[in-house]
Amino acid sequence: MIKANKIDKFFNRGKRNEIHVINQISVDLPDHGLVVLFGPSGSGKTTLLNVLGGLDRAKGEIQFNDVSLHGYSMAQWDKIRNRHIGYIFQNYMLLENISIHENIQLTLNMIGITDKDEINKRVEYLLEKVGLKNYKKRKAGLLSGGQQQRVAIARALAKNPDVIIADEPTGNLDSKNTVEIMNIIKTISKEKLVLLVTHERELATFYADRIIELKDGQIVSDTKNSNESGSLDLKHDTDIYLKDMTAMNLSSEALDVSLYTDKPVDQIKLKLVLKNGTLYLDIDQKHAQKVNLLTDKSEVKLIDDHYKDFDKGMVDNLDSFQFGSIIDESKVEKSQPVITWKHAFRLAFNKVINSTTKRKFLFLGFILAGFLLLIAFGFVSRMLILDETLFMPYDKNYVLVNNIANRNELDSIINDEHTLYVSYRPNYNVEFELPIYYQESYSLTSYLQTDFLSVVQNGDIIHGRSIENDGEVLLDYKMFEGEYNELNQVLRAYGVSTPTELLNQKIYLNQKEFVLVGFVDRGYNAVIMQEIDFYRSINPNPGTKTLAVLQDEFFDTVTYPVFDDIYVLSSNPAQSVKNIGNISANIDVSHPYLEYRDNYITNMALVYSFLWVFSLVIVIITLIALFFVLRASLAERINEIAVFRALGVRRIDITKTFMVEIFVITTVSFIVGYIFGMYYFTNMNTALYDSNLIIFPPLFMVLGGLFIYGMSQLIGLIPVWGLLSKTPAQIMSSYDL
Ligand code: ADP
Ligand code: MG
Repeated sequence: MIKANKIDKFFNRGKRNEIHVINQISVDLPDHGLVVLFGPSGSGKTTLLNVLGGLDRAKGEIQFNDVSLHGYSMAQWDKIRNRHIGYIFQNYMLLENISIHENIQLTLNMIGITDKDEINKRVEYLLEKVGLKNYKKRKAGLLSGGQQQRVAIARALAKNPDVIIADEPTGNLDSKNTVEIMNIIKTISKEKLVLLVTHERELATFYADRIIELKDGQIVSDTKNSNESGSLDLKHDTDIYLKDMTAMNLSSEALDVSLYTDKPVDQIKLKLVLKNGTLYLDIDQKHAQKVNLLTDKSEVKLIDDHYKDFDKGMVDNLDSFQFGSIIDESKVEKSQPVITWKHAFRLAFNKVINSTTKRKFLFLGFILAGFLLLIAFGFVSRMLILDETLFMPYDKNYVLVNNIANRNELDSIINDEHTLYVSYRPNYNVEFELPIYYQESYSLTSYLQTDFLSVVQNGDIIHGRSIENDGEVLLDYKMFEGEYNELNQVLRAYGVSTPTELLNQKIYLNQKEFVLVGFVDRGYNAVIMQEIDFYRSINPNPGTKTLAVLQDEFFDTVTYPVFDDIYVLSSNPAQSVKNIGNISANIDVSHPYLEYRDNYITNMALVYSFLWVFSLVIVIITLIALFFVLRASLAERINEIAVFRALGVRRIDITKTFMVEIFVITTVSFIVGYIFGMYYFTNMNTALYDSNLIIFPPLFMVLGGLFIYGMSQLIGLIPVWGLLSKTPAQIMSSYDL
């Protein structure tokens, strides 16, 4: 069944406290019978058992049935443990928060048994065999030690494994329970290989078929055991049977003291002082030299009974174990994940909802962190989508003409048909045409003055609405006023009774189409349009350059982007003179935008590096906090993970529960803060958002969200992976610590 060849294992290899815990052990174990690993404490029994049962790694070769394993393959052992090995531990290792039935069902699910009838059949048979028929629904944590160990046996047997591995299964039990549990184990060993560790010689010699004795990591003897001894003397050295001792009792209302002695004594002088939770005990040296304080964890147990020894007959009286005949192996399907996604989500939500107040405060902190992360990502987006014009005082097209020798020369160049001279203030008259549905177009003989939309005040609009889109204009109503108004007469001739009928009609200004959307009452004949439309409309030659040449004192009054270039004439008289021939070649111009840009970027570098650091610090602090929360959550569950791993639950299944938990925690904390932040900034007026220092481009925000999810998974799973890279035995020992 199990064959081990030259197994070798060290603890703390290469350090001063190196232990050669298994020293070149080879052993061949049969396919049934009770094989006991026996030896003093520290001799390496547990370690050898763990290695043989695939819970721990060691050097050498182990052959399990037909599978030969060199070194330690986690996945291969998971499979073998899952299917072929049942485990019984000294400390039972049940999942205490779920029922007995569920504890057993879990191992059945693991090997792919989901059929309810098959599960019930197995659970009921086994619980009856271990004497817990009526405890199916009881939570495992509520049982006594002896009862828990019976459940553990039932759990180990449920999948009908080939091998049962038991490490001091009676180590925490009193002698009555010890015998009962050992009897069950003995019965099982008639069909299966049971590998049992004990340091109690009595148990070994009474029950074992074979005793392998270990000392200092080596086998010192390996013998068949005929167990003919007849009676079991299970008087544990450490147990004290009170009814076999001389008892003295001192009882009053406030005090109940019993003193038991194993030897007859003359007068005992004993003072007990209780102060600040400490017991002071004063007894004469003649009677006692040592004090042993008893707690739950003590080896010594007080048993309020007489010592009984047990008869070998009991073993034979036990019902034989017929599990093989009641189960249906065909119900075993492909192995199932023990923890389904649904179950994992339920667990995670419960966990978050039922978390401690301290933890809830931390989640609040994470919500705040999500909010800060949003700001950080807003900064990062701003820096990545660098809109340099945003903080620049100059327009891209702003060109400063520094030295002009001859203003006339410049004028002649500017008056070239491809350029347009624009003064600081438009005062350009346009030809006005009636809407096109009139048969004949009517051109106004006189030109209209133009004005920019910026001059229009709230109360100026008397009909229609203000300009909202490009290509819309307003007319001043004054041009229709007066009884003999020429324009009105023309309109009437075409059947237009009131000028407001012209609203929303196309009109033409210099042959360019506009829509008339309203009338103003500013008191002079004017058409009012957007600046950009104005410059478009007066450019005689669309597609050629539009230049603006301005005195620099008027520079601010022009909206720059409508020009291809802006020449600003410096009024500084000191900047004089030079012969300029051709504007493109010889005007001495400077490009303040470009010059400022370098400066600006250097200056902003400081601000940006601050923002980067700010963002990075927030990210790092949150990730560290998250790491510790998730690590704490892991620590709380080490017991559960140790059980799962020992039973052969795949690492990926365990990882999955943590992934879900991390996802849920992230969503209810970080993402809530993150999304709230987006709502907050886009709906409330904040300087940060309104000044465009943070921006939320949708793609970046989605990436930010994914980043949060991704990083939290990564950070949260680091401790999980760390734990899961350990062997089950290592996980169990970290639980002990
Ligand atoms: P036994 O079960 O016979 O009492 P163990 O196999 O538990 O013995 O331990 C054998 C020796 O190895 C002991 O000296 C013990 O202290 C040491 N040991 C066990 N586990 C570890 C561990 N995880 N790290 C270091 N030393 C260990
Ligand atoms: Mg041990």
